[in-house]
Amino acid sequence: MALPDDSTLPGPVRTCVGCRGRAAKCELLRVTVGLVDGRQAILPDPTATAPGRGAHLHPSTECYDLAVRRKAFARALRCEGGISAAAVGTYLDSKTVMDTTRNWSKSS
Ligand SMILES: [Zn+2]
Repeated sequence: MALPDDSTLPGPVRTCVGCRGRAAKCELLRVTVGLVDGRQAILPDPTATAPGRGAHLHPSTECYDLAVRRKAFARALRCEGGISAAAVGTYLDSKTVMDTTRNWSKSS
């Protein structure tokens, strides 16, 4: 029928590693561990196709900041606490700019 809205959320539900809120998997950004310049780093995986362990996060800088402060990425992805998640922050910054111009709430 019509496009799905927020009345029912079919499909898998995941917990955001930032705010610990639950949301449909398709509304969350998947992040994985990858290599940047030969070092492990947390990377955004917007297409959710990267192999290996993933964690899920609301695509917002608030949840990103919470996750960084709690070292939630490292815990969820079973890697060192000092791992950098800067690539995710950069990704969210650019995405936020785009979404603001495009209407975040899909109400149109
Ligand atoms: Zn969240």
